[in-house]
Amino acid sequence: MMSGKRVNVTRSSMPELSEFIEELKPVWDSRWLSNRGAASLKFEEMLKQFLEVEQVYCFANGHLALEVAINGLFLEGEVITTPYTHVSTTHSIVRNGLTPVFVDVEEQTYTINPDLIEKAITEKTVAIVATHVYGFPCDVDAIEEIAKRHGLYVIYDAAHAFGVKYKGIGIGNYGDLSMFSTHATKVFHTIEGGLVTYKNKDDDKLSAMRKIVNFGFSSPEDIDYIGTNARMNEFEAVMGICNLRHIEEEIQKRRLAGERYWERLEGVPGIKLPKPGLDTVWNYAYFPVIFDGYKMNRDQVQAKLAKEDIYARKYFYPITNEAACYAEKYGEIDMPVAKHASECVLTLPMYADLTIGDVDRICDIVLQ
Ligand SMILES: *Cc1c(COP(=O)(O)O)cnc(C)c1O
Repeated sequence: MMSGKRVNVTRSSMPELSEFIEELKPVWDSRWLSNRGAASLKFEEMLKQFLEVEQVYCFANGHLALEVAINGLFLEGEVITTPYTHVSTTHSIVRNGLTPVFVDVEEQTYTINPDLIEKAITEKTVAIVATHVYGFPCDVDAIEEIAKRHGLYVIYDAAHAFGVKYKGIGIGNYGDLSMFSTHATKVFHTIEGGLVTYKNKDDDKLSAMRKIVNFGFSSPEDIDYIGTNARMNEFEAVMGICNLRHIEEEIQKRRLAGERYWERLEGVPGIKLPKPGLDTVWNYAYFPVIFDGYKMNRDQVQAKLAKEDIYARKYFYPITNEAACYAEKYGEIDMPVAKHASECVLTLPMYADLTIGDVDRICDIVLQ
């Protein structure tokens, strides 16, 4: 009984094909297709402006950006993190030979709980890796204060937070470095891609990262690190240049969809709508809804929507410490807030071209 078009949880924003081709022409003619050509360098300059950060470095995808950035700090020991995130966050710690120490998240934003960070610190702790879940900023001030006091690195998984500002500052300015994913499913995309942002003063500290991304080469005959290949290519940079020209309109369109969801769902008993705090300029990356004590449970709502060809997703389920590859070691850790959220959350479709009519159709089905 399908009464409308298929609606996925997200849909990639695209520039006009003519705009893409125009921007691609110099790349095509130059035959410089990867390895930091003119398009990548231009893209990084545009990103510095837009994100209001001092340094931006592009990668093949968000995961490798995070994994290589952590690799380049040459850490050993324990890293405090949360399980209410994409499994990529946890993998980036463990694949670097580090031990994740999971702590729970806060009720309102589902970001790491700073009080629990403090309690989890041991003499082996070297860093905090925290996610700005749904584009909601972590309690960055409290985290910075703790990190300073204990001499820890702060690394943000800002995969959801492109364009977010906190207290008037681009979110990429907080911590030692931030990773943004520019995957096709994110607010802003380069087909596949990722970025690391950091400050000028940390340029030396992150010089290894910028070599590891390219097999560890520091010059054609000097291979200083056991590197990998995590380079962004020029076609991706061209897509980024085009999409960046339209990002403000695209976020405004998301905002209209988000406001409609709020109008329709706010105050309904058993439905909770997580929101960023007043200090945040948000990007409407996702529209998470917590079904807790509602007449249907989360899985029932998801199934009901799927029957109508609408595909909402469980971001995040399972929590990462319970993923099959981590469960044996970390599955028993008590994480009540994250666990409960993962059992009750459904992220409803959210993208720039989602119409008010689409939102109404989705809300009608949820509320019926
Ligand atoms: C998407 C995502 C990643 C991984 O980014 P890719 O570009 O897909 O590799 C990492 N962390 C979070 C929180 C994400 O949502």
